[in-house]
Amino acid sequence: MAGLALAAAALAVFLLFAYFALPLVAWTIAVALLGWGACALAGFSVTANLVLAAAFVVAAAVLNLAFLRRALITNQILAVYRRILPDMSQTEKEAIDAGTVWWDGDLFSGKPDWDKLLAVPAPKLSEEEQAFLDGPVEELCAMCDDWEITHERQDLPPQVWQFIKDKGFLGMIIPKKFGGLGFSALAHSAVVMKLSTRSSATAITVMVPNSLGPGELLLHYGTDEQKNYYLPRLAKGLEVPCFALTNPEAGSDAAAIPDRGVVCKGIWQGKEVLGMRVTWDKRYITLGPVATLLGLAFRLYDPEKLISDKEDLGITCALVPTNTPGVNIGRRHMPLNAVFQNGPNWGKDVFMPLDWIIGGRDFAGKGWMMLMGCLAAGRAISLPTSSVGGTKALTRFTGAYARVRAQFKTPIGRLEGVEEALGRIAAHTYMMDATRVMTAGAVDLGEKPAVLSAIAKYHMTERARSCVNDAMDIHGGKGICLGPNNWIGRGYQIAPVAITVEGANILTRTLIIFGQGAIRCHPYVLREMRAAKEMHGAEASREFDDAFTSHAGHVLSNGVRTLVYGLTKAAFAPIPEGCSAETRHYYRHVSRLSAAFAFLADVSMLAMGGALKRKEKISGRLGDVLSMMYLVSATLKRYEDMGRIKADLPLVRWSVRDALYDAQQALDGILSNFPVKPLARLLRWTIFPLGMTFRPPLDKVNRECAQIALQPGAARDRLTAGMYVPRGDDATGILEAAFSAAVACEPIDKKLREAQKGGAADPWAILTAEENAQWQRKETLRKQVIKVDDFPQDFGRAEAMQRLSSEKTVSVRAA
Ligand SMILES: Cc1cc2nc3c(=O)[nH]c(=O)nc-3n(C[C@H](O)[C@H](O)[C@H](O)COP(=O)(O)OP(=O)(O)OC[C@H]3O[C@@H](n4cnc5c(N)ncnc54)[C@H](O)[C@@H]3O)c2cc1C
Repeated sequence: MAGLALAAAALAVFLLFAYFALPLVAWTIAVALLGWGACALAGFSVTANLVLAAAFVVAAAVLNLAFLRRALITNQILAVYRRILPDMSQTEKEAIDAGTVWWDGDLFSGKPDWDKLLAVPAPKLSEEEQAFLDGPVEELCAMCDDWEITHERQDLPPQVWQFIKDKGFLGMIIPKKFGGLGFSALAHSAVVMKLSTRSSATAITVMVPNSLGPGELLLHYGTDEQKNYYLPRLAKGLEVPCFALTNPEAGSDAAAIPDRGVVCKGIWQGKEVLGMRVTWDKRYITLGPVATLLGLAFRLYDPEKLISDKEDLGITCALVPTNTPGVNIGRRHMPLNAVFQNGPNWGKDVFMPLDWIIGGRDFAGKGWMMLMGCLAAGRAISLPTSSVGGTKALTRFTGAYARVRAQFKTPIGRLEGVEEALGRIAAHTYMMDATRVMTAGAVDLGEKPAVLSAIAKYHMTERARSCVNDAMDIHGGKGICLGPNNWIGRGYQIAPVAITVEGANILTRTLIIFGQGAIRCHPYVLREMRAAKEMHGAEASREFDDAFTSHAGHVLSNGVRTLVYGLTKAAFAPIPEGCSAETRHYYRHVSRLSAAFAFLADVSMLAMGGALKRKEKISGRLGDVLSMMYLVSATLKRYEDMGRIKADLPLVRWSVRDALYDAQQALDGILSNFPVKPLARLLRWTIFPLGMTFRPPLDKVNRECAQIALQPGAARDRLTAGMYVPRGDDATGILEAAFSAAVACEPIDKKLREAQKGGAADPWAILTAEENAQWQRKETLRKQVIKVDDFPQDFGRAEAMQRLSSEKTVSVRAA
């Protein structure tokens, strides 16, 4: 009996000490006391007791005295670790070092500090930024006719190009002192989002110069001379920039570009100067065909050692005016009819002075570090934001269409199958917008969120793709036949562009989110790696010992907390102080997932070592768990920041439950495919001791989400806030009017139906003149909405296009 009590006490001590991650000294004292009790119970001889006590003292000394622990344990582990840890290339190192760690660090720790997150103030636009959105952005949206842009002109009209340049759209991130708008990341995001709800070509044209490119690189690394010359010109639209990295041989593996420059002497403006002879072949370059300033990445060599003692200096970024002899631009690709300017450019042995290198000759060879350093901010905004813009438009327009379009005498939005798809779109939109705001807010706090921007990029673009598929299904044939009356087909066409650019999604999911996250966001892994590879002697020994012992405690604590949370359905998992009763359990679930994820990530790294990098099916799923926790965190924060609006709760509930369920599926996928089977079983017992308890979102909640999209009012306006709401007589303007008319006419429709059912000879006779007029107006609008375009036989042929274009030119001139 006493033995059983002692065993129970030992188990309790183990669980409590590990749960609260108590220090080694506390463990040592507890083990001493338990050991003493065990010896007393066992009735050992004095000699045996003395031997055991001596053994304990030696073990405790080795573990607790750092110099002994280092000499006997951790230095040996360090030696093995150094042997098995693969060397990192310079470009890998620069990618890992780039950017900052923010909320991802908390999620990786297994103990997210919710109070810290909720204390971050809700991001807000300044008055000036709001005025820009309500003024020039609204005006620009109204100027854009998507059919004219994507079909008739295959380009933005000249007046739209000019407006973009004149109003400073190309210089949103350039500070005011250089003549730019100096906008916050949130404002930059709000502008791109609004434009994306109207014209993707316009949005992309504005987005690219404000993302990774000459402007951003100059701001961080340019010489004063470069900044003072180029930034005001970029801000005022006197230069159209592009950035050319991708080569036919190097897309995802961009660091492998074969484009090369050789340092040499040459004649520049009549004088012999030191410069570079550069040969390149680039493709897919956005704004490339019309650019005046080409940001060019190439590998620089110095075979004659004219500027360095190294031959291969590495990737270098230069600014090349496109009117330089030998620069070839102008040809276009056609990226899925999205028609923003995109094309190849090339040059052979083009001589350029060294001071065209961004940052000057001191920055020769530092191009990769510069690119990685600047990548996060742009990636956090451009594609996540344009995806949110797209889905906001989908929510508003698909909801309206589903109310206006009727089949089987019912608005299609009320048919359960359609409702299911519409509810999904609405809930994804809420979560996506929450993620957009939180990620842009992080950039405004000074973060360069390398991993979080990858999460936002991947999951926003994938959710946009899923939403546009749902929206296409709801629209049926109306979405398929292109023309000025189709507001959705171009969005469907362009979805894969966002998936491919700024890090193609498969690679982003499998290599960046977890791969970079595991090293960068983990509290100890990077310290261990640095100790092993970059430090020597006593410094390395001390750093590794500290990181390794803390790491061991971290794994143990996360393992025990995972089990306890699993057994108690997260009843004791941390939540923020004073959070709302409706969302409290979601915080608990994420805390539980965070502990499970941190534990599983560590065990996976231990079990698979460097091979985990190649096991992309496992690392991709680990990345999914991390991503879902981030999306849920953003959604919960949004709910708090917006003042806990009850009408939005269905959107929170559906999207959070969906993400938690996805995270659970990802964990299940990892455990089912974990290569070390006994370990997999142990992990499953620890993570899911009561089985897999998360369930998919409920149909009832899905209906409530669909209702938000189907019902005019504050909830629908909030969900689609920040989008351009058309009021004119184009297709979407008519759709908005038809939607309002359809809703307003429902009592009249009901009256008519009842009269018909009652066998009235002329049901119309029961309507007042006013009701009749209202009904007729609704019908006129409805017929316009369901209209699908048709074209003459020669539609799209060259001669027809030419005729159309000359007609347009005449009408623009006349205007
Ligand atoms: C419309 C458009 C605009 C663009 N704009 C620019 C621009 O302005 N400037 C510029 O420099 N570039 C630009 N790009 C290039 C873009 O960044 C590349 O297309 C992208 O990096 C992918 O390269 P790729 O198309 O050659 O695909 P590939 O590299 O051939 O990749 C093909 C597939 O393999 C996957 N893959 C590759 N490596 C891995 C891996 N290790 N693990 C798992 N999966 C992997 C990718 O995810 C992808 O799904 C643009 C591209 C497009 C289409």
